[in-house]
Amino acid sequence: MSEQTSRSNEAVTNQYDAYLTPIWKNLNVPIKRASGETLEDFEGNEYLDAFSGISVTNVGHNNEAVVEAAKDQLDEFVHGCSYVHPNAPVGELAERLATETPGDLTKSFFCNSGTEAVEGAIKLARKYTGSTEVLALEMGFHGRTLGSLALTGNKAYKNGMAPTINDVSHVEPPYGYRCPSCEGETCTAACAENVERVIGTHTADDLAAIVVEPVMGEGGIIVPPEGWLERVQEIAHEHDALLIADEVQTGYGRTGELWAVDHFDVVPDIITQAKGIANGLPLGAFTAREEIADAFESGDHLSTFGGNPVACAAALATLDELQDGIVDNAREQGAWLEDELAALESEFDVVGDTRGLGLMYGLEIVDPSTDGPRGVAPAPDATLAKSVAADLREEGIVIGVGGYYSNVIRLQPPLTIDRDQLERIVAALRSALESEVGR
Ligand code: PMP
Repeated sequence: MSEQTSRSNEAVTNQYDAYLTPIWKNLNVPIKRASGETLEDFEGNEYLDAFSGISVTNVGHNNEAVVEAAKDQLDEFVHGCSYVHPNAPVGELAERLATETPGDLTKSFFCNSGTEAVEGAIKLARKYTGSTEVLALEMGFHGRTLGSLALTGNKAYKNGMAPTINDVSHVEPPYGYRCPSCEGETCTAACAENVERVIGTHTADDLAAIVVEPVMGEGGIIVPPEGWLERVQEIAHEHDALLIADEVQTGYGRTGELWAVDHFDVVPDIITQAKGIANGLPLGAFTAREEIADAFESGDHLSTFGGNPVACAAALATLDELQDGIVDNAREQGAWLEDELAALESEFDVVGDTRGLGLMYGLEIVDPSTDGPRGVAPAPDATLAKSVAADLREEGIVIGVGGYYSNVIRLQPPLTIDRDQLERIVAALRSALESEVGR
């Protein structure tokens, strides 16, 4: 028996327990192979994937064109350090991003992950502005290395591991459903004035950047109201600071536009990217206006593996695939999904709120009999959200559960998903909710 065929769900899971640092309490299904929207475990069980490996495989698992592009580059060479040896995939991807990223963002730096992209963007903002302070959103997520972790607005990721970097303040997110400033689902652009208040009360007004996810992912799929992001950028610029849009999760078509900022009237000063950029190969990036990017002097910032040519070749193919109808599909399927989820919200009291854009949707699961934090909305019900996810897994569907209160069901499938598959997911959600709580 070959090593490959002797592998099993149990053997892999046991190896995780024995030899990996404990990373996650609720491991999901083991994967032997994946294709399109389908995962297969070691026992031949198939799962419809509605989470894309945390919102990464936007053009479908093992997309043929992406795999081909990566293989072609593997045949040429794997590594030469892209910051020592100029190579074509890096140059071509950088040139392509100068066109594909919003407005006049034209210069990129490549790294290996989202957290590194955020770290680099903060360093660049400090270097360019000569200021040090950074503002981010409560409940936001920007990564887990000590700089980006400082921005991440959730103690769960920091317990026992602080201190992180200094000079970071947090401001209330535009979380309409639980916004204490708005008392309900009526968050408006006026919530952006909280940014001014926090600058006034928590900082020395030496601001280098305001960092926001245009749609918050890990925090619970939070979409800002019209005008909010525009006002935040205005405030940033009034304080001579940059607006960094962290599009690690929202970029590359996830929200039904190539970039989430395309939904708003905003061109950020720096945009961070990772996850969907190379459809699963490790790559991160930030892209900035030339004047800002050129604040880095030679040697200021570098990464041995950053801009790996195989990953960059995959990224170029991913962009081609996205623009061959896949972003359009995300937008069209998302519009259908929005209505279906709204129907679930009206059918089930435990579905307190549904929200999202494109194929990035959240269902906030609540206990309708209990008041939520600060009396805003019913209390989060993380246990029920987890049970619903387990029910769907039994039906062969993988979904995510997250959010600041761990009570948001996250639907972030490959953007290639079709109507039949989405119908299957919605039907499974309905029957799981029915069996958990009745109507
Ligand atoms: N920023 C955002 C908005 C993210 O969602 C994430 C990952 N969930 C990160 C940064 C960190 O990315 P990575 O895990 O690749 O370091």
